[in-house]
Amino acid sequence: MYAKVIVDIAHSQVDRIFEYSCRDDVKAGCRVRVPFGGRIIDGFVMGISESASFPPEKIKPVYSVYDEPPALVPECFALMEHIAERYRVPKAAALRLFVPSEMRLGKVHEAYVSYVVLKNPGVALPKSAKKQAEILQFLNTYGEFELSALAEKFGRGAVNALKDKGAVDIEKRRKRRNPAGAEEREESPKILTPAQSAAIENVESSPKTVHLIHGVTGSGKTEIYLNIIAREISRGKTAIFLVPEISLTPQMLAQLRARFKGEAAILHSGLSAGERFDEWWRLRSGEAKIAVGARSAIFAPLENLGAIIIDEEHDSSYVSESAPRYSTVDVASWRAAYNGCKLILGSATPSVESYLKAMEGEYNLITLPERINKKPLPEIIIADMRKEVRRGNNTAFSAAMRQQLNETLESGNQAIIFLNRRGYSQTVMCRDCGYVAKCENCDVTLTYHSEDNCLKCHYCGAKYRMLQACPQCGGRHIRYSGTGTQRVVADLKELFPSARILRMDNDTVSGKDGHYKILKKFAAHEADILVGTQMIAKGHDFPSVTLVGILDADMSLHFADYRSGERTFQLITQVSGRSGRAGSPGKVVLQTYCPENYILRFATAYDYKGFFENEREIRKATNFPPYSVICRIMVTSEDEKLAVAALKNVYFACGELKNRSPEEFIFLNRMHSPIKRIQGKYRYQVLMRLKTEKLLPEIYDIAVKNSTQSTLCYIEENPGNLS
Ligand code: ADP
Ligand code: ZN
Repeated sequence: MYAKVIVDIAHSQVDRIFEYSCRDDVKAGCRVRVPFGGRIIDGFVMGISESASFPPEKIKPVYSVYDEPPALVPECFALMEHIAERYRVPKAAALRLFVPSEMRLGKVHEAYVSYVVLKNPGVALPKSAKKQAEILQFLNTYGEFELSALAEKFGRGAVNALKDKGAVDIEKRRKRRNPAGAEEREESPKILTPAQSAAIENVESSPKTVHLIHGVTGSGKTEIYLNIIAREISRGKTAIFLVPEISLTPQMLAQLRARFKGEAAILHSGLSAGERFDEWWRLRSGEAKIAVGARSAIFAPLENLGAIIIDEEHDSSYVSESAPRYSTVDVASWRAAYNGCKLILGSATPSVESYLKAMEGEYNLITLPERINKKPLPEIIIADMRKEVRRGNNTAFSAAMRQQLNETLESGNQAIIFLNRRGYSQTVMCRDCGYVAKCENCDVTLTYHSEDNCLKCHYCGAKYRMLQACPQCGGRHIRYSGTGTQRVVADLKELFPSARILRMDNDTVSGKDGHYKILKKFAAHEADILVGTQMIAKGHDFPSVTLVGILDADMSLHFADYRSGERTFQLITQVSGRSGRAGSPGKVVLQTYCPENYILRFATAYDYKGFFENEREIRKATNFPPYSVICRIMVTSEDEKLAVAALKNVYFACGELKNRSPEEFIFLNRMHSPIKRIQGKYRYQVLMRLKTEKLLPEIYDIAVKNSTQSTLCYIEENPGNLS
């Protein structure tokens, strides 16, 4: 027999299927070790066949098989082909997505325990086989025993001899580690509201594959997801449930464990390698039927999927930032089609792209316009920071913010102060009139580069002189730095000396565990105010929070990205959604230097449709996604000359494409990347805006062709970050 093997080397030169002869213990999906170029390396068995396509005498045998059930199911190989083709990565790189790295790197093997099980006690033994007879006697008493102990006592050879005779079997069993934080808690399912029931029925009865649930914050989307999952499980199916930051949302974890107990495997970054590995095997063995986790859980080893759910579908964490740069929705759509199952996307602020697909009828749109129990959405108070500056207030807090904080603390409730760090310190703004420097060609905000003291457009590479005074009002209060969390906490302590304050950002805590602890403390009301960045925006359900303060709503509005408007709308809606979820009605204070901005207007009115229609017009008129595709070919190398040479070739090849299909190109240029060097690698780029995805395969080919050992060329589609 012959095994078709993909060797675990992610390189285009060995991106083929190799044949090895094998025995029948090698099965499709197994991991094997094979001789390759004078070494022994790992490989994945794609399939087994009776005949080989090479002369048999030239074929080497498989060196050894990993002693474990086949890790990969047939769907993995089919999806591997799709990913390898779509994102032009070697098959091995695609396959690695399916296997926990702990397993590939051989870090957690000790978690297996082998048992020797008595099969045929009456087998005839020669007189000389004393040890074997002793083992049989021993097993007659115990039935089975750990292999390592038996081998130590009687010798491994004797055990093996018994196995060859069919007297005993050796069984591998998983030694289970219990994930931390798995405290069990009883929770009965809630009685669904009519809106929730209708949404579930709508998903069930619609013939479409993809469903977009657009429900305001607190509309009870989670309960809808859980019910859909429960129904699929009762039908004997499995499910994948993706959440952007599961490790940061303790309530969600507790809820899932309470509801599904051992049927859910929760893959989050807070787990140890061993725990993650065990959770993975629970899914693979069929013991667990629900995979819950962040982006990578889309590759969960489940068969017979009944539903895939992507919560907060607009979240940028769903696009992989390292190779293969897959889109989670793309992979999910593929798996949904393969399994004939439903894909449910949910959000209070769907991405413009998804909502457009819903409007055009590709997705089934389900709308939940009200919170559970008709609880009102929090009132949003706008504080005009230009007026504060004019009044001589140079602190980070407006009068409205101080007043609301005071009231919240006095009533014994909690507040969240949100600081927008995205784009922080890069945008140039006039504090007198709110003017923001923009590119003349691209209608996106310019970014300040301190190294050459100038302003740059990240979409076309245009360079502008740094402003000395505001071109609009002549003011000289030009700022390009926001306020840091540290400073905010210091100011708060001065304003409210008795308030207990927690701060959460990437500097305060190391590791996700630290975040979890801070959030738990806040949830237990051991603090009155939580100050933080992006990471406190999502998914939390703190019942006592009645005030959310947004210190600099503008910061992401002016981020140099065509999606800044969208991101700002999402952020304001999500952060506001943390306020007034239970008891008393909530409030939000939003500080801004441009209160008249339409995005802020739509956000404060909770007018998603208005925002969407407006945004869609802009994108259409300016030829930005989803009405075009932004494609960036990154060229990086430690050797600048090599990078420049490759850049030239890549640019030339793209130019040829453009000559052939000029109608597909809106923009094409090459330039330094905004950050010129990262980790010793020079960074150049070819930037394109294309009418459609039609030429993408050819563009991927260009990148692959120009990649060498020392120069890496890779593609980003609609990158979330152009640095
Ligand atoms: P979303 O995900 O849409 O923001 P959640 O799922 O967090 O909303 O629900 C908001 C709140 O409403 C939660 O506290 C949840 O426990 C509660 N809730 C959800 N469904 C019901 C229901 N059917 N009956 C009572 N409370 C519910
Ligand atoms: Zn520009």
